[in-house]
Amino acid sequence: MSIIEPFISDLDESQQEIVRLAREFAQKEIAPYAADWDREKRYPEAVMRQLAELGFFGMRVPEAFGGLGLDTLTYLLVLEELATADAATSITLSVHNSLPVSMLTAHGSDAQKQRWLPAMAKGEVLAAFSLSEAGAGSDAAAVRALAVRDGDQWVLSGEKAWVTNGDRANLLVMLLRTDSPESRLGHRGMTMFLVPSDTPGVVSGKPEDKMGLRSSGTTTVALHDVRLSGEHVLGKEGEGFRYALQALDLGRMGVAAQAIGIARASLEHAVRYGAERQQFGKPIKDFQAIRFKLADMVSRISASRALLSETARAVENGMRVTERASMAKLFATESAMWVTNQAVQVYGGYGYMRDYPVERLFRDAKVTEIYEGTSEVQRIVIARGLYPK
Ligand SMILES: Cc1cc2nc3c(=O)[nH]c(=O)nc-3n(C[C@H](O)[C@H](O)[C@H](O)COP(=O)(O)OP(=O)(O)OC[C@H]3O[C@@H](n4cnc5c(N)ncnc54)[C@H](O)[C@@H]3O)c2cc1C
Repeated sequence: MSIIEPFISDLDESQQEIVRLAREFAQKEIAPYAADWDREKRYPEAVMRQLAELGFFGMRVPEAFGGLGLDTLTYLLVLEELATADAATSITLSVHNSLPVSMLTAHGSDAQKQRWLPAMAKGEVLAAFSLSEAGAGSDAAAVRALAVRDGDQWVLSGEKAWVTNGDRANLLVMLLRTDSPESRLGHRGMTMFLVPSDTPGVVSGKPEDKMGLRSSGTTTVALHDVRLSGEHVLGKEGEGFRYALQALDLGRMGVAAQAIGIARASLEHAVRYGAERQQFGKPIKDFQAIRFKLADMVSRISASRALLSETARAVENGMRVTERASMAKLFATESAMWVTNQAVQVYGGYGYMRDYPVERLFRDAKVTEIYEGTSEVQRIVIARGLYPK
């Protein structure tokens, strides 16, 4: 086994099997096409259907609702395998499983679980998580989109920004303000809603033209007096902000896994290229400057994975992992940015060309330091944990 890959021999047979299946599928059906999907900004519809058939849309859906019910570590290792082939594919499934699936499982009523989870496990329903707005990113409490009661209905209005899967999701799990301008309740003035995307008045915008993850659709979602019954409130009124923060622990771990996959792919390319590329009459891998770069790259990737695995173990032991999840995301994503930058350097001028894979990996890595909380926000969360109240 290569020292670049995760060590999985201590996992049980079924865990190993699923990680191997993900690796095999990702390397055969995804990796060879990822550059084309990126160039053409094309969502890989057929491959997503195959991933659904393999059960990957239901990785975190409990078995009782038709999902795989994977433990945290196995789930993250699958996301790493997918991201090693294509970061955009990985984030589609990471958002769907880490956020909507987790929130429905934790806070949904029996009827809501029955309605959504089996279809989400089969991939018949793709879900998105929608918190951010043009004026509310890091400051999530600044959300302005509203839900106002009208008899036994709710009327939703406003505009959400940067919704991953926003162009094709069937279900939007959305954080909306439910307090009134006269009595603002801060974090407690927000409620999570289950918004079917075919409800009249829900309009998703054109996909953003992004630096990376170009085959994953990121859109605005406008709400024009959308009417929903009370059955669409997830959990309790006023608890939405808390639910979002809870789910973001796993969301951030998913982004860390994605970052590790991106970094691993760029290292694999750099190692191969180092052996092929000749300068001064020998392969560039024989220069100590290149060897040391590669050694630092693999070390940072392994350290990221070790931190993430420890956090996954803590989750399985029922621990609260907010700061650890932030540490894993911070370290893995900044490492991915550093590692992909080194990979471009190993490739020299070719690394700057779209024809070579490390250029895409460098672009894909950047967003991992931004979404589901920027690196600055992760540092705020971690430092807060050092001074508990
Ligand atoms: C491709 C993509 C997909 C996304 N998908 C989703 C999605 O599916 N759902 C969703 O809800 N959102 C999504 N987002 C939004 C994303 O989570 C936000 O972009 C992110 O949280 C940062 O918010 P912002 O862009 O408003 O930046 P800002 O909050 O405006 O931050 C700008 C800069 O200021 C820094 N900063 C802000 N506040 C502080 C502070 N208190 N201390 C120190 N520094 C600070 C930030 O770290 C950053 O460097 C996505 C974004 C992108 C780019």
